[in-house]
Amino acid sequence: MEIKKGIAVSHGISIAKCIVIDAEDYRIPQRKINPSQRMIEVQRSRNAFKGAIDELALMEKQQNKTGQRNIKDIFAVHLRFLRDKSLRKRISDLIQAESVAAEYAVSTILREIAAHFAKVPDPYISERAADIHDIERRLLQQLLGSKREDLEHLTEEVTVVARELSPTQTAGFNKEFIKGLASDAGGRTSHAAIVARSLGIPAVVGLEDFSESVSGGETVIIDGNRGIVISNPDEETIKQYEGYLQEFLELEEKLGTIREKPAVTRDGERIKLFGNIEFPDEAEMILEKGGEGIGLYRTEFLYLGSEVEPSEEDHYEAYAETVRVFNDRPVIIRTMDLGADKFTQHKRFVREPNPFLGLRSIRFCLRHLTLFKTQLRAILRASVLGQVKIMFPLITNIQELMQTKMILHDVMEDLDEEKIPYNRDIEVGIMIETPSAALMAATLARDVNFFSIGTNDLTQYTLAVDRSNELVSPLYSSVDPAVLRLIRTVIQDAHKSQIDLSVCGEVASEPEQVMLMLGLGVRTLSLAPPMIPEIKQIIRSVTIEDCNSVARKVLGMNSERQISSYLRDAARKVMPEAF
Ligand code: PEP
Ligand code: MG
Repeated sequence: MEIKKGIAVSHGISIAKCIVIDAEDYRIPQRKINPSQRMIEVQRSRNAFKGAIDELALMEKQQNKTGQRNIKDIFAVHLRFLRDKSLRKRISDLIQAESVAAEYAVSTILREIAAHFAKVPDPYISERAADIHDIERRLLQQLLGSKREDLEHLTEEVTVVARELSPTQTAGFNKEFIKGLASDAGGRTSHAAIVARSLGIPAVVGLEDFSESVSGGETVIIDGNRGIVISNPDEETIKQYEGYLQEFLELEEKLGTIREKPAVTRDGERIKLFGNIEFPDEAEMILEKGGEGIGLYRTEFLYLGSEVEPSEEDHYEAYAETVRVFNDRPVIIRTMDLGADKFTQHKRFVREPNPFLGLRSIRFCLRHLTLFKTQLRAILRASVLGQVKIMFPLITNIQELMQTKMILHDVMEDLDEEKIPYNRDIEVGIMIETPSAALMAATLARDVNFFSIGTNDLTQYTLAVDRSNELVSPLYSSVDPAVLRLIRTVIQDAHKSQIDLSVCGEVASEPEQVMLMLGLGVRTLSLAPPMIPEIKQIIRSVTIEDCNSVARKVLGMNSERQISSYLRDAARKVMPEAF
């Protein structure tokens, strides 16, 4: 039994056999072997090369008949590579030196070579990395045969363990079979974690080297409430966790009963609870959980996981589908927030040394106007179907806002010319997620209808801590006094300017932070749909006076540690069963 502490990112408990996957969703084969089996593994790797060569030679021969020259050339290059003796030697040497399985050695060596190619500035050579990945797949296919499964064909419940999960990968997980997630990398607000929370799959990230300690098939417990992962648990531990799971399910059921009740504090203050979504099919869940609208629609997920860029119609269909679910309730569509940890599959974008500080989000849109205008047209067209609002992410200064609004007006004029209807009075808002925007909130407020505070990025940029890097995760806290001072400024400026304000970062999903947000003056929260009932229960259990007093105390504290522990105690008093 091994117990590992990580970062709890999505509530719930799961107990299931694990599978370890790589970046392409394929199972990573068992790693360590008994030294006495080394020769067998070397022979297996040789057989795999022979099988792959025979397979390719046959394909090349068939191609000779149909005669497509470029495809023939590709086969020839792959064959030359597979026949290279030094490559086979490197693989056998690794098996011998480290007692690892053939699959592991093949993957390791070929990935090393691919990484080396990818770094070469000459695009002709760097693009060869894709060929090496192809060869790796072919060899693994030989080695694993039908044992090689991808996550699309699961037939039993599993826990997925990975070194790192991308947002796209996580978004594609089938909730019916995938019951828990554990990853070595990642932080509380990395996008893969956010997606796990939206899907309601218990998840723990930031586990350092956990994926290397399991090889697939072991029972793994994921405790997404406490941030604990246990592999090979003993009977007693399994029993204990079955008990926790039962309690968790009972709490969920109890919270389900407040779905129809309003989010109103004990002293009568009405709080609006909206949901954050990534895909149109999540919209229903917001209503099921008792939410009142969409406070953040992360539209960039339309680009992820697809080989082709979405067309205007693709955008329109996605928005129309979502807006119809909500009839006349608000749907805030955020324009695409690509870059940083959210890239399209075909990686059209140049790799950047500091992607979170680079050409991401609105900056990317302002450089790729055709892409941006396509999306704006679709949002405007969908605006006649309900209460659609537009929100721009990562605005850092007033010029950027002006430029963005100008483009929106250009698109409106185009639609006017084409006599395409849209809501001329559509509300336009921005996310406040950089310190510069927070400090300039009073100025920015003059040109928008609303603010939504993106605490995930605001925390990252204020504290200079990468939100998805587990190595610095202890430094990442949205209740750091510096972050709270910025949040307070934004709230005050929004109130003075009489514009709407909400919080849509993960702070809004944190039971421990809700009272503080209300005490600071927030009245609208947008959060992961599965968390709506719990947050509503907390709101219904407190008074605004309680919250004001929490906020006053917290603003008087200078240390993050003191603040978190004070908030934890305060929340526990209000809803002990959730902790
Ligand atoms: C945020 O930064 O707080 C936010 C809500 O946006 P995202 O998590 O998509 O970056
Ligand atoms: Mg953000």
